[in-house]
Amino acid sequence: MSKIKRKHEDEGQSKPYKKKHWSLGLLDSMTDPDLIVEEDDLVTVIKDKYPKAKFHYLVLPKENITNLKRLNTSNIELLKHIHICGEKIIKKAAGGRNFRLGYHAVASMSRLHLHAITQDFDSSCLKTKKHWNSFTTKFFVDSKVIIKQLEENGKVDLAYLNPSELLKAELKCHVCDMKQGNMPKLKAHIKQHVQDA
Ligand code: AMP
Ligand code: ZN
Repeated sequence: MSKIKRKHEDEGQSKPYKKKHWSLGLLDSMTDPDLIVEEDDLVTVIKDKYPKAKFHYLVLPKENITNLKRLNTSNIELLKHIHICGEKIIKKAAGGRNFRLGYHAVASMSRLHLHAITQDFDSSCLKTKKHWNSFTTKFFVDSKVIIKQLEENGKVDLAYLNPSELLKAELKCHVCDMKQGNMPKLKAHIKQHVQDA
């Protein structure tokens, strides 16, 4: 008997149980009333479960589009709608604050998702260099750039951006470009910019 089967029998389950991969977690969150902020026929807006700023939302299409690579010209109107929903939710929740709407060049979670995130980066969930650089370097691609690529080339081409660059890139303040030696120093430094964010 395999180890996996034995484990499930121990748990009193009659059928073999397959745990959903962590990278599919957004799919459950799209139906979680505690996380849903708004929805319409085309998209669901949820709170990011591990927000990297005071206001951090994800806008996801209901259509099963896994990531940026799957997009083509038929999705342009949907992407524009996703952009407008991101603008609306952040203005409603965090009116007057600076924010960005964009996609990670290579996302870790499945189902395409637009990040709508304020620029204070004031959150205990933002801990690592990888987190920081994923939101403050060219790895974070503005939604409008993605839409333009689709309109001009019929596809999104970000193959030149590799997640391994997130660890190689230096730590820099996103407001004044001052270099910082580590994340605690950087987080202490950016506090001075919070009122501008
Ligand atoms: P990425 O795939 O790199 O664009 O980012 C995935 C985002 O999803 C991150 O900002 C996470 O904090 C967030 N996240 C991870 N798991 C969940 C979840 N189960 N529900 C909602 N948000 C999540
Ligand atoms: Zn600074």
